[in-house]
Amino acid sequence: MTDSPRRGRLFVLSGPSGVGKSTVLARLRRDVPQLWYSVSATTRTPRPGETNGVNYFFVSADEFGRLVADQQMLEHAYFAGNHYGTPRGPVEEHLAAGQDVLLEIDVQGARQVRQAPGLGSEAVLVFLAPPSFDELIRRLVGRGTEDEAATAARLEAARDEMASQPEFDHTLVNTSVEDATAGLVALLAEPCSPAPAD
Ligand code: 5GP
Repeated sequence: MTDSPRRGRLFVLSGPSGVGKSTVLARLRRDVPQLWYSVSATTRTPRPGETNGVNYFFVSADEFGRLVADQQMLEHAYFAGNHYGTPRGPVEEHLAAGQDVLLEIDVQGARQVRQAPGLGSEAVLVFLAPPSFDELIRRLVGRGTEDEAATAARLEAARDEMASQPEFDHTLVNTSVEDATAGLVALLAEPCSPAPAD
């Protein structure tokens, strides 16, 4: 009898908008190229420098609705005026092939992953927290990628997102990109704990 191939592990990086998830992710991509990084779909307008298929799949609201209706999203959420979701197929294929997968998604999405049958109980949920709420406001306002209304919507969401931290397996405080990335690398290297029964 041969052992069945090891399934990959699913890691979720979440936390409030503006905390620096994308910056940490960019550093992680460089340091841990063997992970597979899911590309989300969104109805948001691309920011300068963002490329379709690399940063996101930029889709219309109709197309997004079709993907959800066809159950092609592993999870999806409406966040600060736009839809975001994780295409299911590529994630499942990479896990089945034994590759570890990382999703960078909002807190609503992380909750859905936790509930996903056959996936959620084994997923490792990591919350990236700002050093303080004032610092989060400073980062979100200071990065200037959104207009005033969108920034206000993100700040409002951030209060609820911060309150969700106890639902996560691990918290990393993003005091510096280097330290947060090193913390993530250490978590990725931790041996799996036995999964509780679904
Ligand atoms: P942004 O517009 O700043 O790129 O992303 C806004 C928020 O949406 C961030 O918190 C980001 O992590 C989250 N996000 C990105 N992709 C997904 C996704 O596929 N699903 C969910 N639920 N959230 C996502």
